[in-house]
Amino acid sequence: MLGPEHWHKDFPIAKGERQSPVDIDTKAAIHDPALKALCPTYEQAVSRRVINNGHSFNVEFDDSQDRAVLKGGPLTGTYRLIQFHFHWGSSDGQGSEHTVDKKKYAAELHLVHWNTKYADFGKAVQQPDGLAVLGIFLKIGDARPGLQKVLDALDSIKTKGKSADFTNFDPRGLLPESLDYWTYPGSLTTPPLLECVTWIVLKEPISVSSEQMLKFRRLHFNKEGEPEELMVDNWRPAQPLHNRQISASFK
Ligand SMILES: [Zn+2]
Repeated sequence: MLGPEHWHKDFPIAKGERQSPVDIDTKAAIHDPALKALCPTYEQAVSRRVINNGHSFNVEFDDSQDRAVLKGGPLTGTYRLIQFHFHWGSSDGQGSEHTVDKKKYAAELHLVHWNTKYADFGKAVQQPDGLAVLGIFLKIGDARPGLQKVLDALDSIKTKGKSADFTNFDPRGLLPESLDYWTYPGSLTTPPLLECVTWIVLKEPISVSSEQMLKFRRLHFNKEGEPEELMVDNWRPAQPLHNRQISASFK
């Protein structure tokens, strides 16, 4: 896939008014006392599979019932977890999509949920309130034990199109202590870049060790048998905020 600077040719919405990611200017974000506490309920999550899709890898969940859901925060109704994935850099100094006062983190986790007022994920992405993506920054520090099972699975899905069974994974091991967040209306950050996402970005990062980061960077963008292109820097840079306000759940 061509890089983000070329996406507008096939997906003109790339230059739209509610694109993601954005820089979060913490001084410009407004505390909204009406925002509710965020309520992820992941106890009954059923993970199924991990797949290298050629731009990241997705850990997929059974979304045929309300097992793992996100409610509260800025959301109305129930959003069902379908997958999570990460964006990361070629070095520890970059990798996140959102930035905080222009600061880049080493990686960013996206837990993707769709609004159950629509029939399925495919219908939801066509609606302005179709998805809720919970974004969590990864900063370099101690190893995150809750991440290790994911990283160990990557050896078996090195190239594009490969998948492997990935059951009994508990996504609660990827959440920080605090659920304080920023929220704003935005888009998917990869084509088709649809403007269907309520973004909820947590203020508190989780830690990841430099050694753990190396495991992400061993994946490939290419298919098996094609020339090797390491899967690194799979992040889209910050897009113009235009006429949007970022709200904060905290003072
Ligand atoms: Zn993402």
